[in-house]
Amino acid sequence: MEKKSNTLTTAFGIPVADDLNSMTAGERGPVLIQDIHLIEKLAHFDRERIPERVVHAKGAGAYGYFEVTTDVTRYTQAKFLSKIGKRTEVFVRFSTVGGEKGSADAARDPRGFAVKFYTEEGNYDLVGNNTPVFFIRDPLKFPDFIHTQKRNPRTNLPDPDMFWDFLSLTPESIHQVTILFSDRGTPASYRHMNGFSSHTFKWYNEKGEYFWVQYHFKTDQGIKNLTREESKRLCGEDPDHATRDLFEAIERGDHPSWTLEMQILTPEKAKDFRWDIFDITKVWPHGEVPPIKIGKLVLNRNSLNYFAEVEQAAFCPGNVVPGIAVSPDKMLQARVFSYHDTHLHRLGPNYHLIPVNAPKHAPETSYQRDGFMRVDANGEGGPNYWPNSFGGPAPDAKAGEPAFELSGQAGRYPFKHPNDDFVQAGTLYRQVMTEKDRTNLVGNIVSHLEKAKKRIQMRQAAIFFKADADYGKRVAAGLKLDVKEVERLAQMSQEERAAATVQGTSPD
Ligand code: NDP
Repeated sequence: MEKKSNTLTTAFGIPVADDLNSMTAGERGPVLIQDIHLIEKLAHFDRERIPERVVHAKGAGAYGYFEVTTDVTRYTQAKFLSKIGKRTEVFVRFSTVGGEKGSADAARDPRGFAVKFYTEEGNYDLVGNNTPVFFIRDPLKFPDFIHTQKRNPRTNLPDPDMFWDFLSLTPESIHQVTILFSDRGTPASYRHMNGFSSHTFKWYNEKGEYFWVQYHFKTDQGIKNLTREESKRLCGEDPDHATRDLFEAIERGDHPSWTLEMQILTPEKAKDFRWDIFDITKVWPHGEVPPIKIGKLVLNRNSLNYFAEVEQAAFCPGNVVPGIAVSPDKMLQARVFSYHDTHLHRLGPNYHLIPVNAPKHAPETSYQRDGFMRVDANGEGGPNYWPNSFGGPAPDAKAGEPAFELSGQAGRYPFKHPNDDFVQAGTLYRQVMTEKDRTNLVGNIVSHLEKAKKRIQMRQAAIFFKADADYGKRVAAGLKLDVKEVERLAQMSQEERAAATVQGTSPD
């Protein structure tokens, strides 16, 4: 029988006669296993969920374009950046970080800001956040850090002791903690926040000259944040408010946009730079490296199916196109491995064939073959090895990053200058924030940190004190701590402070 165009079928295209009544042995008898449609439908349903992302599980995404507005060809040979006015299609996914897939969009958390550029030289993924810095700078700490921001292994509840114990024993987190607990930690929507590469990347040009760069997507909608009270209300009343806001804005033609500003540093200037440019807990002060506007990112099209396009979207910071390369930032080096590895687990070895992830303007011509869900022609009868003399795809020596020098003794090195960790947080508190920002910041911290044990409160208050005495005193006062004791802890080394506040040595 020829199928009518709108006839319901099984997964294999066979017309289905009845989708309301299971096949039974007689009117009141048991269900027959030969009801192939029922069995197939249930078996597929049982497998509908794929592993949730360990981080960035709750997200929203949309398509759009990136347009170049400034000539940057002296810095990079990337073709998608080669001409003013040039447009490249993009897919962007925003997310919260710590919450599960059903968690509230308004939670205090950094926001993911991941951009996939479908360039003519393959897909370029810039996988950033809405903050210019991060909590830690060594990837060995990442799984521990995330554990502390999630649920207690015994109670399965978020645990303020775990949360603050780790942060107060990891003082390099103070800069990001200060941003997270300002009202920027609860953006009003995904449209009203900035996006940052956070890491330093390398750009190189056709002459082989290279530059260190940082990306800043500045929102054209203006920064808008929620207060703690507004965020609490939205968590209850509309846990999907940011997902809804993005989708509805795009549907009504109110297309959000961001201006891409770059900070670009020559290798010569980088040598004497005041800050370690591969330390993701630091920014490059704008006064020293003024940002240059280079392009515009616009989102103008919603996906047609959330699971197919947003849930299965997969980004990897290692997907860089010629003209762009990674830097020695240790966190970035680990992310280059970890994102791809995660997607192999979450989506399978052929996740690059899923349409949202597939290169649109530079078809894959690799020798990778087979594996679960290899759903294209799999290289057909062409050679599956290199070198070959059958006309298979050949490497292009011009595509690689120019060679660069490395030297040194292999080892495990801590970052130098631990006292630097407090400087930029102090500047943010004193010079960038308004009095209202500071009041909200202290209130946001106190309302969270007050749920942790006293000794952990003391240790964390000392960290705030080290960033700025007024900051530390106000947090200490809000928590009703002995300010003199906090000040005393602030004067200790990190090791002494940890020893003075370990379980059993001071009141809990
Ligand atoms: P500038 O005065 O030139 O820049 C301050 C930056 O801070 C602006 O980009 C502003 O972003 C941003 N900002 C304002 N309020 C907050 C907040 N509550 N949380 C986070 N960022 C905020 O100063 P410098 O470049 O000399 O940097 C001073 C401090 O500003 C840094 O120590 C850092 O904490 C913070 N900062 C610096 C950035 C950089 O790349 N240099 C980027 C972001 C923050 P906007 O324009 O969107 O309002």
